[in-house]
Amino acid sequence: MDIFTGLTVWAVEAITLAILLLSRWFYEREDFYLGWGAGFCLHGLGIILIVLRGEIPDFVSIQIANTMILGGVGAWIAGFLQFDGKPVQGYAAIPALIWIAGMFLNPVRESFAFRTALYNGAAMTGYAIMIGMLLRHSGPSRLTRRVLAGFIAVQFCASGLTGILTVSAQATSFGTTRHAMWLLFPSAFCFVAAIMSGAKLLTERSEEKLRALAVTDPLTGVLNRRGMIEAFHALQKVPSEEPRILALLHFDLDSFKTINDRFGHQAGDAVLIAFSRIGQSSLKARGQFGRMGGEEFASIVCVGDVVEAASIAEAIRMTLKRQPIPFGEHEIRLTVSTGIALSTAEDADLDLLLTEADRGLYAAKQNGRDRTAICSGPDVSVVPAADRPADEEELTIADPNQQVAVLKKLAALGKS
Ligand code: GH3
Ligand code: MG
Ligand code: MG
Repeated sequence: MDIFTGLTVWAVEAITLAILLLSRWFYEREDFYLGWGAGFCLHGLGIILIVLRGEIPDFVSIQIANTMILGGVGAWIAGFLQFDGKPVQGYAAIPALIWIAGMFLNPVRESFAFRTALYNGAAMTGYAIMIGMLLRHSGPSRLTRRVLAGFIAVQFCASGLTGILTVSAQATSFGTTRHAMWLLFPSAFCFVAAIMSGAKLLTERSEEKLRALAVTDPLTGVLNRRGMIEAFHALQKVPSEEPRILALLHFDLDSFKTINDRFGHQAGDAVLIAFSRIGQSSLKARGQFGRMGGEEFASIVCVGDVVEAASIAEAIRMTLKRQPIPFGEHEIRLTVSTGIALSTAEDADLDLLLTEADRGLYAAKQNGRDRTAICSGPDVSVVPAADRPADEEELTIADPNQQVAVLKKLAALGKS
């Protein structure tokens, strides 16, 4: 087998992959398929132009062919950026630009050895960029990314060696570079291995997507019941030297059925989405918020004490109450009732917490809705609300200081 046969096999392999990737892009419209597909297409076609050396003008077989191959390396870089959800950056063009710049230098353009060295230097730059991108990423599939980076690193070394050997042997054509023929084997092996690692990366991404879908509520985008159960166990397992208290907050929108009846099901959906936003933004990174089903939501959060848990529930309750939800020309006002249950992280039992929080919720509903109640063993206490005067006749805007004061009173009552 001579080097041209080897290159032809390589080109056919690259073009086959390009067809596969571009057809996946056609059906799935994920941009990284386009980037990688274009990369393999340019790579394969460029190699074919090199194989045709002597049959076609040298300018096409040298300048155009290598620009295409290195443009292909740039398209792979673009594909990796797209794969990680980042915008395509100008540095993807660096390998091709190095080659084009070199072609303006007469001694390089006229010498086979220097041209080969320049091509390999440009390709190495592209490989180094890809290795850096793969290793710097801290998301999922870290092992597969490292393996892929390893295979690209072998390509990097093979390119470096080819450049050095070609220059030191002062080679004048492919026929005088027997070492390049031998270097083609590890390169071809790594090319195939890199493709397989890339395929594994794609499979892991699909699995990750499916897993995310399985724990996400499709309407609101927050965790669903299954996601909340997983989040609870994950939070429980977080190692900590201090004893931690886990609070389960169970929210139920008040008289939600009347919103569906009055404004329609879509308005009800808009309310569910709006409440999810309020819940998520009120919690931020403090804990998890999810939809348990229907118009019922829950939050699992690590708290210092009962006052903190009640403050979170009250903040969400008052935010919802103060923010009418726009729907068409309507402004929908509604309230939420919340039941809270607490436990130390080590002893926390999700079923028990759910049952207790449900008892708190029931008490909140029984006491007139739009309020929070805490269930602790046999005792259930309704949180004194800062926005509701004792006589319940007039609503005032919540004063946070006043709210903290009443919650402290509740905590003191709980201890007495
Ligand atoms: P309460 O104050 O006692 O909680 O009364 P409620 O009306 O909120 O409770 P009820 O259980 O009677 O009604 C819940 C309603 O939620 C009934 C159901 O049609 C509606 N619902 C459940 N899931 C969805 C949904 O995904 N979208 C919409 N728009 N409505 C939903
Ligand atoms: Mg309900
Ligand atoms: Mg309800």
